[in-house]
Amino acid sequence: MTIANTTETTTETLCEARNISHDFTMPNGSKLRVLEDVSVAVKPSEVVALLGPSGSGKSTILRILAGLIKPTEGEVLYRGQRVHGLTPGVGIVFQSFALYPWMTVTENVNVVLQAAGLAPEEIRERTEKSIRTVGLAGFEEAYPRELSGGMKQRLGIARALSVNPEILFMDEPFSHVDALTAEGLRAEVIDLWQPQDQNPSSVLMVSHDIKEVVYMADRIIVLSSHPGRVRTVVQNTIARPRDYRSRESEQLVDYLHEIITGSELPDVPVTTTRRPGMVEPLPHATTSAITGLLEYLDAHNGMDEIFEIAAATDQEFGTMISTVKAAEMLSFVETPQQDVVLAPLGRRFVRADTDERKMIWREQLLKLRFFREIYDLLRSEEGEVDAEVVHERITAMMPQEKYESIFDTMVRWARFGNLFAYDEDTDRVSLQ
Ligand code: ADP
Ligand code: MG
Repeated sequence: MTIANTTETTTETLCEARNISHDFTMPNGSKLRVLEDVSVAVKPSEVVALLGPSGSGKSTILRILAGLIKPTEGEVLYRGQRVHGLTPGVGIVFQSFALYPWMTVTENVNVVLQAAGLAPEEIRERTEKSIRTVGLAGFEEAYPRELSGGMKQRLGIARALSVNPEILFMDEPFSHVDALTAEGLRAEVIDLWQPQDQNPSSVLMVSHDIKEVVYMADRIIVLSSHPGRVRTVVQNTIARPRDYRSRESEQLVDYLHEIITGSELPDVPVTTTRRPGMVEPLPHATTSAITGLLEYLDAHNGMDEIFEIAAATDQEFGTMISTVKAAEMLSFVETPQQDVVLAPLGRRFVRADTDERKMIWREQLLKLRFFREIYDLLRSEEGEVDAEVVHERITAMMPQEKYESIFDTMVRWARFGNLFAYDEDTDRVSLQ
């Protein structure tokens, strides 16, 4: 449903990984592939999040982009130039804070700037400024053990900011901080990022926390694991300042949750990962829900945001997504980004009388490979087969799906288009 763009190649990017694959060598000498053909690009002025379960390779991608690890395959570019060694313009905040326990707050920041080879006066100014920026003024002489978790991460952020980075990299920066402190720090990072005339221009963060990425990111790159791949990319256009508890936020959380748990299969990866011979599963949507969606759109100038439609029609977001996907499969709507747009055929359908609706519906069903196969099967069997035969066919086409659910949807859709019908008494499927 949401538009995914996994191969961004515009020159308008700050930092970019192109077609990265990575193998780690295990102690016994064998290779472990942890990333497979991952492309990620961060543009100026955006917050990008890598979202995925533990072990999906998020930290490895971040380290490769920072130039800390050389990928087995693929390349890293900064402002269009291939990077060798450390990537310029990057400041990193690590999950574990990575502070030196024997150094004070000031010294922990200084050490980074000294490594960068700056003059002592410049170091003093930058250290003072970044410590002030994160609200640690007054704690300059404190040691990490004297700081709370939240303050330690403020110091981690101060250290990353001191190099005046164009991009701030953050690897699960709040996972070792209590929930309330994390909420405060997220808002502060957004405040640091927001002014367009000062660094950091962009933020790239790694997270396994869906609520966190919905709050922070403009673009969410969802990864799958073993090996890590880009599963889909979701644009987050919710207006800032954001509220964790707003309806829009909660709906996007639900949607991402569905993608990650696998009940929602986004468009692009499906076409690339599905084996040839397999067909797209039917979304579990009723004909009346699909018709209802089209009627709603027709009454709203032919388009609206998916969140709006779900809210206005008081539908559960997951159900809404299935309905939209179904309408899209039938070419009744298009779904650029978060919008649902009534297509010309959808308009014709919704303005037609019942008989014409059924005709259009039937025509669209026959364009779907799934219905075409079942239809051809029935014709080759003199118009009638046992439901068992259809079950087998469904399982062969969609081995990962629950066939009961597909069968149920199939029967409803086919009946509406007068294509074929299921008779419960005889347990047979027949052409009408
Ligand atoms: P994430 O940050 O998403 O949890 P990582 O990038 O840390 O994932 O790890 C991805 C995979 O690579 C994991 O299976 C992890 O065990 C493995 N891995 C990470 N670092 C190394 C390493 N230095 N050597 C071998 N395997 C590693
Ligand atoms: Mg990690």
